[in-house]
Amino acid sequence: FSGIYTADPDTLSMRATMPQFLEFEAQYGSVIRGLKAASTKNGGTEAVRYSMFVAPKNGIGSLVDALLDELKRHKNISLETEKRVSQLGFLEPEKQWRVKLADGSVREADAVVLCLPAYGAARLLKETDSQLSDLLSSITYASSAVINFIFERKRVLHPLDGFGFVVPAELGKHVLAGSFSSVKFKGRAPEHLTVLRAFVGGALFPEIMELSDAKIRDLAFEELSFYLSITSPARGLPYREALVTRWVDSMPQYKVGHRNTVREIEKRVAGLKGAFICGAAYEGVGIPDCIRSANQAADAVNRCLNTALS
Ligand SMILES: Cc1cc2nc3c(=O)[nH]c(=O)nc-3n(C[C@H](O)[C@H](O)[C@H](O)COP(=O)(O)OP(=O)(O)OC[C@H]3O[C@@H](n4cnc5c(N)ncnc54)[C@H](O)[C@@H]3O)c2cc1C
Repeated sequence: FSGIYTADPDTLSMRATMPQFLEFEAQYGSVIRGLKAASTKNGGTEAVRYSMFVAPKNGIGSLVDALLDELKRHKNISLETEKRVSQLGFLEPEKQWRVKLADGSVREADAVVLCLPAYGAARLLKETDSQLSDLLSSITYASSAVINFIFERKRVLHPLDGFGFVVPAELGKHVLAGSFSSVKFKGRAPEHLTVLRAFVGGALFPEIMELSDAKIRDLAFEELSFYLSITSPARGLPYREALVTRWVDSMPQYKVGHRNTVREIEKRVAGLKGAFICGAAYEGVGIPDCIRSANQAADAVNRCLNTALS
């Protein structure tokens, strides 16, 4: 469970990450009993397990591409991507936000949505509201690396009859979790190959990020091959391909008290005219949570601008 959040289980907030587990405990006196009851209600475990995972055929980036394509169809929308905001300030007399970009140019805006990581929002809001900035900075982040391996299917002796595994933190292993990508998602590999993904790093093992890609790959392979009984050929590499991707400061850590921090942040943001926040730092790290959070921010901007016009 902490593997999913790349977190330290001793500090992870159950209320902020898995509130339904608290409800199960309250309602059934046990999380396991609650899970069993929920699974029966949903028509058995298989239906629950496999309907949970969906991904766009051409990768998750196609969500952003689709959004961009849609926005570009509207002539009255002006888009500027790949530009960093270096400073943000509120101009009291004009009641406008001044957005300074890294290239030195400036935009003025009636409303701004801060949808960057909390530490980035903290930096941009430091001068406008230092208390809000401190609250945002208190949400810490963990780094991780993902290693995608392509193996010949026959070399993996494990039946891969699931969607992956999570490694209990107390084992002190490098791999936090593994995912059977080509089992989980159709069309990722031909029959004779399999794509397996390992996650390393996280809040408990930040030092692994200091290692070279080759070292990270080798550590991940060693543990994966142990869990999944992966055999090596007499000569040559045991995998067809291995790709290490680093995700630095990418996973917000929902520690105990997170929900209170978020409530405080929301209160202070509400005090800033025309400023809104959204993203993984606050109400859920999953992509559906981020989309919901962005929709809420967009609705709030709409209401704010409509009120200003009326
Ligand atoms: C390794 C890993 C695996 C994951 N797997 C899954 C999964 O399987 N399913 C799932 O649902 N979720 C998964 N997640 C979680 C999910 O992907 C993230 O929580 C989500 O993408 C975060 O979206 P976001 O828009 O809040 O932040 P981001 O995607 O981080 O977007 C923030 C944006 O702000 C930009 N930015 C930062 N600073 C500035 C600045 N000064 N000016 C302008 N722009 C700036 C950044 O460039 C970035 O584009 C995973 C996360 C990680 C790290």
